[in-house]
Amino acid sequence: MPVKSILVLGAGPAGLAAAIVLARARAGVVVLERHPVPRAKPCGGGLTPRALLLMREMGLAVPPGHLVSTIEANAPPRHYNTFTLADRALLVADRQEFNRALWVQALLAGVPILHRRVLRLSWKQGVFRAQTDRETFTGDALIGADGAASLARRAFGGKVHENARAVMHACVPSARYAGRLVFDGRPSPPGYGWVFPTGPETVNAGVYATHGKTGHRLKDLLGEYVRARVENAPESPVTGGPIPWGGARLPENAPPVLLVGDAGAWADPMTGEGIFQALFTGRAAAMACIETPHPAGARRAFARRTRLLALNLAFLRSFCPLAYPHVGGAARVLATPFMRRVVTEGLVRGYTSSQCMARFPALYFASFSNPALVRHEHRTGLPLAERAAALDPALPPLPEREASHGNP
Ligand SMILES: Cc1cc2nc3c(=O)[nH]c(=O)nc-3n(C[C@H](O)[C@H](O)[C@H](O)COP(=O)(O)OP(=O)(O)OC[C@H]3O[C@@H](n4cnc5c(N)ncnc54)[C@H](O)[C@@H]3O)c2cc1C
Repeated sequence: MPVKSILVLGAGPAGLAAAIVLARARAGVVVLERHPVPRAKPCGGGLTPRALLLMREMGLAVPPGHLVSTIEANAPPRHYNTFTLADRALLVADRQEFNRALWVQALLAGVPILHRRVLRLSWKQGVFRAQTDRETFTGDALIGADGAASLARRAFGGKVHENARAVMHACVPSARYAGRLVFDGRPSPPGYGWVFPTGPETVNAGVYATHGKTGHRLKDLLGEYVRARVENAPESPVTGGPIPWGGARLPENAPPVLLVGDAGAWADPMTGEGIFQALFTGRAAAMACIETPHPAGARRAFARRTRLLALNLAFLRSFCPLAYPHVGGAARVLATPFMRRVVTEGLVRGYTSSQCMARFPALYFASFSNPALVRHEHRTGLPLAERAAALDPALPPLPEREASHGNP
């Protein structure tokens, strides 16, 4: 018998994934969301193969978007690694459209999404209370899916390990990147710049830092990066926000709230990917509530269902600070074509960063025998702007001596 009445706080991907699974199982669920309609959250909209697979598994419609067949995982100016995908597609979706599609599917599944801002949360005698701007709701269980600044986490004394930060322009005119997704690893602050194609002639472009307090002005870095990478000036203002990672810690005696998506700091700090984790943990929380009648049991079931992701975060808490090229020898190795090939192969197959490391030898052999990335090209020793200009469709390709190809 499932937990009887479940409050879901937030109608982002995490909250809606949880609510859809609960409604389909006929569990009593209500979603409280402070925005009246799906909003345009600052987001690159990159949906990895594992996110798309999970959506299909959950019976969720994939929103329209721009399909990507080429990935660049670079460490400018030394290494430019270009991979071509075999058949595992990556999609860049418009984030507002993505949220809207989930919202509609939730309504169709019978989920009540109420326009309420939750102001206070408490737990007394086994009952959660959510005081909103209009009335107070009660529930046997609470799924906190209210994003990076989560009230559900803070109200019960929870803390996140770390906040990454990302700033971006949602729309920059550029025809260079149709079908091509670019990550330019950057040593300081540790992170990367990205260019994601949103259509044949537009991209979104941003800068990501794995740690919030970098002492750098990310907006200035974004300006420099976009000037070097993209041939035209942005048409949209700078937006952005934190991406918590490393997991959320609640005090021992905290009530059995289930923190999902950014509220639980589930994102992968190496890539900044958070949508897959939001959907995955949202579904895990819903299934935990369905499988047990006791909220405390649901918390244990949730921990069991998210064990692999939690393990990955534990590994990344120590590994991530080392993993960008400026820190130590081990990290520099990550930027080499050999390492990038295996790690990118693993990420495209849907493995977590720690699974990529654990399965390194198997992935290395699979990258030859049954590759997800069918073509690998490596160029070296180019300033970023020169490399970017060489991608102009109108220009001839760079001279062959600067490029080396793997399994064509
Ligand atoms: C600039 C940027 C780019 C990114 N790019 C990517 C990318 O390309 N791919 C990727 O996978 N991830 C990306 N991410 C991360 C991704 O956007 C997040 O991890 C993901 O949105 C988390 O989903 P969520 O449902 O947990 O939270 P959210 O999407 O933030 O949803 C939380 C919801 O809770 C509601 N809420 C909050 N407080 C209250 C309250 N008190 N009362 C009622 N409702 C409330 C909010 O209104 C919101 O609707 C990016 C993040 C940033 C900042």
